[in-house]
Amino acid sequence: MTTAEDLLKRAKERNVTIDGDLLRLAYDFAAEAHKGQKRLSGEPYFTHPIATTETLIDLGLDEATILAGLLHDVPEDTSVIIEDLQKNFGNEVAQLVNRVTKLGELRYRGVERYQENLRRMIIAMAEDIRVIFIKFADRLHNLQTLGALPPEKQKRIATESIEIYAPIANRLGMGELKGAIEDAAFPFALPKSYEQLLKRIREPISERRLYLTNVQNILERELAADGIDVVFVDGRAKHLYSLYRKLLNHGDDIAKIYDLVAVRVIVKNVSDCYAAIGTIHRLWTPLKGRIKDYIAQPKPNGYQSLHTTVFCEEGKIVEFQIRTQAMHHAAEYGIAAHWQYDEMGKQSVRPTAERFAWVKEILDRQAEIPDREQYLESLKLDIFRDQIFVFTPGGDVLQLPEEATPVDFAYAIHTDIGNRCVTAKVNDHIVSLDTPLHSGDVCEIIVDKNRKRANPDWLDFVKTAGAKAKIRQSVRRHE
Ligand code: MN
Repeated sequence: MTTAEDLLKRAKERNVTIDGDLLRLAYDFAAEAHKGQKRLSGEPYFTHPIATTETLIDLGLDEATILAGLLHDVPEDTSVIIEDLQKNFGNEVAQLVNRVTKLGELRYRGVERYQENLRRMIIAMAEDIRVIFIKFADRLHNLQTLGALPPEKQKRIATESIEIYAPIANRLGMGELKGAIEDAAFPFALPKSYEQLLKRIREPISERRLYLTNVQNILERELAADGIDVVFVDGRAKHLYSLYRKLLNHGDDIAKIYDLVAVRVIVKNVSDCYAAIGTIHRLWTPLKGRIKDYIAQPKPNGYQSLHTTVFCEEGKIVEFQIRTQAMHHAAEYGIAAHWQYDEMGKQSVRPTAERFAWVKEILDRQAEIPDREQYLESLKLDIFRDQIFVFTPGGDVLQLPEEATPVDFAYAIHTDIGNRCVTAKVNDHIVSLDTPLHSGDVCEIIVDKNRKRANPDWLDFVKTAGAKAKIRQSVRRHE
């Protein structure tokens, strides 16, 4: 089992400052409290708080959060009470553990419960964002050990992870964590789609890796020749769930997913980023409209990088992402990275205050909007600014862009459902097919089995590229 010394070593490697005696004390305290307890997998229970703490260390969080990670299940599962924690570890740690405990399990139990969970999560976040980091780390380990649970529970936990946890991680700019949560949940939430996807991409991805090794070698040589300081270049497969989402939105055409494996170029500073994109464009012709400068104009969650897609070796299409190490760190850890920079009092190259302005806004707004319900509603809109979750009558959840319509929903379920849809019921009321859907809606599509062709008029209002492509395809086929 991982020891307190292992944890301290890990913290040191990641430049996290932590009092060794305090960590050892928390370690022994939690070990004692969980003594004799077992996980469903049969492993000692204490393996779980340790794994949670490791993630928090990797995220580069502060001492109180790391200690609270070790202790997070102590009051819930044992007779030890919060006052004991206060006595031993101080108010801040005790308060964090208390808040994590109060937040409790976020359960997926249909639409109303979903809204309620979201609210509780957002309140906790507004109180102290570190509570959410602990919940994320806790959830990630529970997902990674989901195999030991009964299938029904697996599906429930996996679904709520994709539905509640991942979008919040995304909104906080924690791309790596979002990807890790979604990928761990995917096989349990949508087992069939997962299997199908694995079968389809196994070969394309391994072929692609081989090809990219060659591209990487050429690029490294040319960047060096141009005098650009490269930290590293790597070709990395996309997260599986995010690939699945992309396929849904691109009419299921795997050849159109240019970034199946994208090449990341990490350089020393911002001017090297622009120099490197110059080198890439000198070597290979860029595709029109695919050059994106997220350094000058960061994404709403703070993401910064230069993106370009080129006709690479042998005329194949490849996406490159170019950024500095600090931007890379921020892309993976998001607000956690921001937190770490602030804690260490370092000047960062990123205009951090602006990047996470919306978090401040959320906290400030609490004072401005006295009505609690109204305040929570406004928070929800912020977190899910560009995406909604719509339920099937069976309780499955589909993630769609804002303003998506029942036709988008129908195509997201299946091409045949899309082509044959005639009416839709939203929350048990018949609506026209161009009605914008909202998060939490239950949508039922009514189909006409004899209908074969999509209605070209739908092209005027559908929001997803997937629906558009499928409508065009169907219309063309019947012309
Ligand atoms: Mn836990």
